[in-house]
Parts: sequence; C-alpha cells; structure tokens
Amino acid sequence: MENIELKRFWGQVKEELLSVLPGNAHPWVYPLEVSGYDKGVLTLVTGQMMGRDILRRNYYNQMIDALKRISGDESSRIVIIYDENAAKTLKKETEKFQKKTNEKIFKEQALENLSNMQSSANLNLKYKFENFVVGESNKFAYSAALAVAKNPAGKFNPLFIYGNSGLGKTHLMQAIGHYIIFNNPKLKVKYTKTEDYVNDYITNSRKNNNTNIENMSKFNRKYTNIDVILIDDIQFIESKIKSMGNLQYTFDSLYNKGKQIVITSDRVPKDIPTLTAALCSRFEMGLMLELTPPDMDTRYEILKKLATDNDLVFEEEALMYIARNFSNNVRELEGAFTKVCAYAEISGQELSYVLARNVLKCGENDSEITFEQIAGITASYFEVDIKDLKGTARGQKVAAARHISIYLSREITSQSFVNIAKYYNKKHTTIMFAYEKIKKEKDSNKEISEALREIRQALKVL
Ligand code: ADP
Ligand code: MG
Repeated sequence: MENIELKRFWGQVKEELLSVLPGNAHPWVYPLEVSGYDKGVLTLVTGQMMGRDILRRNYYNQMIDALKRISGDESSRIVIIYDENAAKTLKKETEKFQKKTNEKIFKEQALENLSNMQSSANLNLKYKFENFVVGESNKFAYSAALAVAKNPAGKFNPLFIYGNSGLGKTHLMQAIGHYIIFNNPKLKVKYTKTEDYVNDYITNSRKNNNTNIENMSKFNRKYTNIDVILIDDIQFIESKIKSMGNLQYTFDSLYNKGKQIVITSDRVPKDIPTLTAALCSRFEMGLMLELTPPDMDTRYEILKKLATDNDLVFEEEALMYIARNFSNNVRELEGAFTKVCAYAEISGQELSYVLARNVLKCGENDSEITFEQIAGITASYFEVDIKDLKGTARGQKVAAARHISIYLSREITSQSFVNIAKYYNKKHTTIMFAYEKIKKEKDSNKEISEALREIRQALKVL
C-alpha cells in the first residue's frame, strides 16, 4: 500500500475505532500511528506502553472487527508495537500541549487580574513597553521602569519619574503595571491618579460621617494591601495638606512591607510648594529620573510606529515635517499626526508632505523659497541652464532636471499646479504629469532620490 493510501486507510479505521470504542479508550487510540498494512495485518505503533497493553487486553476483538468492516478482509489482524521514538515524540507533544494549556490558564488569570484592575485602575492597554519608543531622551527612565517591572521592590524604590506634560510618564508607569500583571499575576498592582487618591481620601474621612473610622480603615486597606502602587501626577497633592499626612502613612506602610512604589510628577519634589519635608525626602530616597523632550530621530520613530501600527502609508517627508515641527511634547506630536490622518480621510488625499503642510501650517519659512531658487539649484545640480527648464528641449538630462524641479516646486512651496505651470511656461497637465512621475519613481530610483536629497539640502529644506 502506498503511503498516502495507507494513511487514508488508517484514517478510516481510526474513525471507526473512535466510534465503536468507549470514550475512556480514546486517549490510547489517538496517539496510534500506522506503520504498515500487509497481507491483512495492520501494524500500529504507539509511544504508550500502557496504551498498547490496555488496547490489547481490553479492546482487541472490537478493534479487529472494526478493521474487518473497513477492509472487507475477514482474515484481518492487528499488531500494536510499542516504540521508544514514538514515546519521545509523544512526550514532546504532551509537554507542548501542557505548556500551551498552562499559558492559557496563565493568560486567563492575568486577564482576570487585568479586568479587576481596569475597573478600578484606569489602565490603558496601549501603554506597554512594546509601544514605547526608546531614544536618548528617555532611555534611562525606560530602563529603570523595565528593571522595576522585572524586579519590583528591588533596587529602585521608590521610582520617581518627572518631566513636562506629554512626555510619556503615564505611559511608562502603566507599562510597569501591565508588565507585572502579565508576567507576575500573583502580585497586586494598583494605579491611581493623585487626584483620585485625594478625592477618595476626602470622601472617606468626612467628619460628619458616623462610619468614619470604618471607612478610613477600608480606605487604607485599599491602598496598602497591594504589592505595587503607581501614583500618577503627584504634583496634584500640592496644598492638600490633610491628604499629605495620609499619603505618608500609605507610603510608609507599603515601603516597610517591601512593596514597590512608583511616582510621577511634572517637577522634582522640592519644587512642589507646600509638600511636607517628610514626603519630599521619601520621594527623593529612591531613584529620580527625568523625561526630556525626544530628539528628532525618536520623534520620527514614534510617528513611523504610529503609521505602521495603524496600517497607514505616509510619505516619509510628511513624517519628517511633523517630527520637525512638534518637538516639545509627544502628545502634541501624536495630535498633529492624527489631525493629518483625519484630513486625509475626509478629503480622500494621500498622506503626503503637501497635505501635512497644508493641514498643520507650521509656519516653517520654507514657503519663502521661490520657484526661481528651486529651479536655479536644480539646474546647477544637473549642470543645465535654468532657461532649459522653462523651455521645451527634450534631452534626457534636461527632462530629468525639469521633472525634479517641478516636483520640488510643488512639494516645497505647496503652490497650485496652475501657478507652477505659469513659471515653467507649460500646461498645468504637463506639470501634474511631471510631478506624478517623480513621486512614483523617487523611492525606487536611486538617482532621483539622491538628486532630491541634495537639492533639498542645498535649499535647506528637508
Ligand atoms: P505624560 O504622562 O508625561 O503627560 P503620557 O504618558 O500621557 O505623557 O504620553 C502622552 C502620549 O504620548 C501618550 O499617548 C503616549 O503613548 C505617547 N508617548 C509618549 N512617549 C512615548 C514614546 N517614547 N513612545 C511612544 N509613545 C509615547
Ligand atoms: Mg500623565
């Protein structure tokens, strides 16, 4: 019997076996492999010695009957052989299966933990380490946060991350939370905005409340019966003197039990007016790290990641334009990106440099660059005359220079095709054709991309 035929034949027999044998025999039937069918003898191999014995002892006759029904051969017999290699494969498979199931259970636990957390903790699933772009400005904060996530209450306790708004403090802090939830689900993590902590405290400590003491102890249990606390925007505690006293209690309870504390702030502790000296020194006793605005490279990477994650095709120059013009704050950088996407979607335009410029109007002074300057630099790059670009000469070099000059005129000045056409003495459809041609070829044609880069550099626009 050919191999394929043999497999098919065994498939039918196996199906028959599973339908006639009781359920408790099935675990011994599944791992059986066929090794041959010759002169009415079906040879089966198993990696389970016990399985072989059970099948032989208890189900042999039923198995032979099933085989007879499928083969139509009344002299059919079955031989079951125990095989060590099959046993090894089986062991591996079993381990793989067990690992998978364990992982599933593990994930389910983590998810349950997560949903508990999210209802009370406001965690944003986007804020994970994988989604945080690392650059010069944030690499220390990132590494420290990751170290804390991997080893809570280890070297850096408390971890105090500070920096201006929109630089990724909340993102990093919640990344710690998510990492622990997914990798160490036994630990209880609590994320709280300082504002919520303060409001919660005020509600529970109201004097006119008869159950005040009970409420306060419930409140304190909520914030101290945990393994990792993430307190966001601590500067909000400013002038909330009573809450500060309780915060010190929360801090000490956790710290003394060897629990991890992570705090963010828009400034260093000593710049928070009215912060008690006791809290100030507590916040400063661990590791304090500053997040600073990301450099151009990191901003560009953040945008590129946003584009990729959202399956959007952006012209590279468009991303460069946004990255160049939104340098102080990642939230604003993302906002600019989203705005361009929204306009592109509404207007059905491509995500191009021209669109980004038109939408964001960042007032870069590249609008002051004239057609004349672009044509001049392009002509000298190609060693042709500026008159040739405006004329009708069809030489290869002139044509290439003209197309590139037209393309750059549109990209850099964002002027209409009609205006550009007037300058080059051409029909506006000719201008559009030239523009589209370069746009299409610029990424695959090295000479074109090199020319664009050099001319832009000479014009001091990216
Ligand atoms: P902060 O808490 O410092 O005000 P956030 O953590 O809320 O800032 O960050 C603002 C936005 O910028 C968020 O959407 C965040 O995901 C994003 N962001 C900040 N830094 C980065 C980074 N390095 N990589 C990717 N996204 C970032
Ligand atoms: Mg924040």
